[in-house]
This record gives sequence, C-alpha cells and structure tokens, in this order.
Amino acid sequence: MDFYSTRGSGPVSGARAIIDGLAKDGGLYVPSSFPKITPEELRDLSYKQYYERAAFVITKFLDEFTEDEMADYAELAYFKFDNLDPAPLVKVDDNMYILELWHGPTCAFKDVALTLLPHLLSGSKKKENVDKKTLILVATSGDTGKAALEGFKDVENTEIVCLYPSEGVSEMQKLQMVTTGGKNTHVIGINGNFDDAQRAVKEIFSSKEINELFNKHGYELSSANSINFGRLVPQIVYYISAYVDLYTNNEINYNDPVNFVVPSGNFGNILAAYYAKQMGINIKNLIVASNKNNVLTEFFETGRYDANRKFYKTISPSMDILVSSNLERLIYEVEDRNPEAVKKLMESLKEFGTYSIDMKTLEKKLPEFYAYSTTEEETKEVIENVFDEYGYLLDPHTAVAVSAYMNYMNEFFDDIPTVIVSTASPYKFPVDVLKAVEPEAKVEEDPFKAIKKLDNISAMDAPKSIKELKELPINHTTVVDKENIKEAVIKAVLGDK
Ligand SMILES: *Cc1c(COP(=O)(O)O)cnc(C)c1O
Repeated sequence: MDFYSTRGSGPVSGARAIIDGLAKDGGLYVPSSFPKITPEELRDLSYKQYYERAAFVITKFLDEFTEDEMADYAELAYFKFDNLDPAPLVKVDDNMYILELWHGPTCAFKDVALTLLPHLLSGSKKKENVDKKTLILVATSGDTGKAALEGFKDVENTEIVCLYPSEGVSEMQKLQMVTTGGKNTHVIGINGNFDDAQRAVKEIFSSKEINELFNKHGYELSSANSINFGRLVPQIVYYISAYVDLYTNNEINYNDPVNFVVPSGNFGNILAAYYAKQMGINIKNLIVASNKNNVLTEFFETGRYDANRKFYKTISPSMDILVSSNLERLIYEVEDRNPEAVKKLMESLKEFGTYSIDMKTLEKKLPEFYAYSTTEEETKEVIENVFDEYGYLLDPHTAVAVSAYMNYMNEFFDDIPTVIVSTASPYKFPVDVLKAVEPEAKVEEDPFKAIKKLDNISAMDAPKSIKELKELPINHTTVVDKENIKEAVIKAVLGDK
C-alpha cells in the first residue's frame, strides 16, 4: 500500500514511511486508503491468538510483509508481556469494560507498539535496502521514552536519544528512564515541557544541516513517536481484537456497535480507534478524554484548536500536552485529504498557535467524536469510587477516561457496550493512586513504600519491573535548557567527533 504525507509529498512504501518517521515536508504519513476487513475475516479472528490478529491487521497496511513474517515479529514482541494476551478485556460492570494495555515491560500501553517497532523498522530497512545505522529520536511526556528505550536497547545498528521534561514526569517514569542500561541509549532531561521536546525533535527532523551531519556519520534519523506510522498501526490491532473478544465472549452479538473511551494526549491512541472504524469495525462513538489540559475538548466542542493557554502539570502527566500531533492525520480526513488545506492550518498553528475548522463541517465529518475534560479533584474521586465500588485500581490516566465516560453517560444515557482504554498500570503512579484510595491515611511520598501499601490493599500485584527500580543504578544525568537541545543531541550521539 502507498503512503502519502498529510502535507502532500509521496507516495512512498509503508516500509519507507516507517524508516523516515516524519515526512520530509514536515507532514505525517497516512495510508492511501483504509483497507477493509470483511465480515468473514472478522469472524475468523475469533479463533486466532493476539499475535496472529496483529499480523493479519498490520499486513493489510504493510503489504510488503507477509503475514508469516509479521506473525514472527509480533510473537517476539508480545512474548515480553506478563500476560498471555497482551490486551486483555476486563468486565467491570454491565456495558462497561476495561481494556488493559499495560502488561508490557514498562507498564504502559506504549509497549504494545514499541515492542514491535524495532522489528518493523529492521524489516523495513531490509525491504528498502537501507544499510545506514538508524538514529531514533524520541520526545516523551513520560511513557513513550522508557518503552522506546527498552524496545531499542542494544538493537544492532541503532542509537536512541530520548528527550523528557525533567520536572514534568512522575518519579517512577523518570526513574525508569534514567536507570536504562544498554550501550546505545541516551536520555536527556530538558528544562521545559513535552511540547518543547516534541518541537525540538520536529526541528531536528526538518533541519537539512543536522540531517547531513548525521548522514555523514552513517546515520539516518527516525522517530519512535506516534508520528511514525509504525507506532500507530500496532495500536489499531487492539481495538479490533477487543471487538472480537466482545463477541467471542458473547458480550455482544456479531456486528453490534461498541464505544471506546480513550485518555488522550498526542491523539495517537484514539486515532488508531478511528482507523479501526474506517476498516469496517462497528464502532459507534469515540470519546476523547482529557485532563485539565483541555485543548482537545475545546476543539471538538467549538472547532477551534488553541494551544495558547496555560500548561498544567497534572497527576496524569502523559497527557500534559498542548500540541497533539496526530490530530493532523484526522484533520487530513476532515479536509477530504486535501494537503493544501492541511498545510494552511498547520502553518497557522505554527505561527499563531491556533487554527479553526468550521463547526458544521466538523460535526458532519466526525459525528462519532465526543470530548470531555476532567479536573484533578474529579480524577482522584474516580480512582477512589471505582476502587470502593468494584475493587478495581485505576491509574490516573485511565481514571480521566472513566470520568469522561460518566460525563458522557449523564448526558446521553447510552446503553451501548463501552470499552475504557486503560493506558497505564496504577503502580506507575503509586503515590497519587494511594492518596486517592486512602485519602484519610498519612500521606506517603516515598513511591516504593506507596507501592507496598497498594500491593497490600488491592488484588492487583505490583509489577516486578517497577519494584526492582529501587535497586538499579542511575545511568543518565544530563539535563539541558530547551535552547540547547540540538547541541545536546548531537553531542550525545557523535561525542566530540
Ligand atoms: C501516551 C499516554 C497517553 C496519551 O496517548 P496519546 O496516544 O498520546 O493520545 C495516555 N495515557 C498514558 C498512560 C500514556 O502513556
């Protein structure tokens, strides 16, 4: 299948789109059309394991790979999960399900794509006869960084540089990153927020000078952020797999509608749900859940995207984002795949921090989208209430999604089965989760003590990869101002060469 940039360049192969990450014109690669899944094919998925479902769905887009090749990759990737099924669906109440996507090595949903991406990338390099080394640049709001570091650690012919907001991630997230081992990993803290990190990455990608410098040293740049289609496509799989699980378990009849609620930041995860719908899965509504950083909520309510607003640090830090990159792929669909229209809006975003789409158009093109934002207080209350009522421990990001679902239900009394996408293990945010479920207790600021307490009161065990962080040495200590990111990246990879 061919891929085009949202800003007009292309076509390129899927393999090339993955190798490049971001298109050279600054746009994001999108498939030339959405492959369909037939009713028979969907039924057949019932009898397949997750990695086989992944191979089936992914090769619909990346048809230069055979289904067998992809199944090998997916089997290797999902072998790293602590659960036989990397995306189990848990029923918590009538019509309410939780899709647990955090059983991977770093305990966040990013693992589902980032355990597979190194295989997709090395396979793509073979298909395209690329023998250059790959330099992966990644900006993280907390979870992508560690998942990418683990995925690419000690992968041959690859270096990875991870940029994270030094004061903008949870203590566990930071510890996960700075304790990373491996000979090819570089972790740089920045005095700034995620948007600063993401902007720097995009600038490096579009800088001819820096690209030439790295090329001279045998590197080609690529991205592990969800701007890379190779990140997005494994995410489409779990929406389809969850749908298949629902009817395989007789929770719905074949071809009944379902809703998904997705805690959103950079908009990659929920975009994958929208892509699943375009492939023919009967998804009714998509509910965009945001924390106090409500730029997406406002966009879906008014058509105005406005990044000129106060940035809040919240207890769901992986969603503390004002510039949601993947929205560009959705806008491309709203604009009937007209790259000139997308370019105009993105230039406005770059220059003025804002753009608008006519509300009538938006309602007509995207009737399935609903959006809600949640305060910090509400997030904590939801964690407490869900634990009291169902004995189920939510992480703060998933709690934002449950809160959005409650708001949606109060408004529409919808009786369609709804899947809440759970994006992180509560043990990644132990202090805030403990404070929420035991508001009366003495505040515990030591995350490892908080983990012990949570382990005692909940039925969910603390993951080993989190508990053992306490014993690991700190390997990465660099922190730079945002003006110096480019120099720091060059120095990390090339040293004084
Ligand atoms: C990355 C992340 C999100 C946001 O996902 P997007 O694809 O960026 O919208 C939500 N929750 C957690 C725990 C995350 O790590």
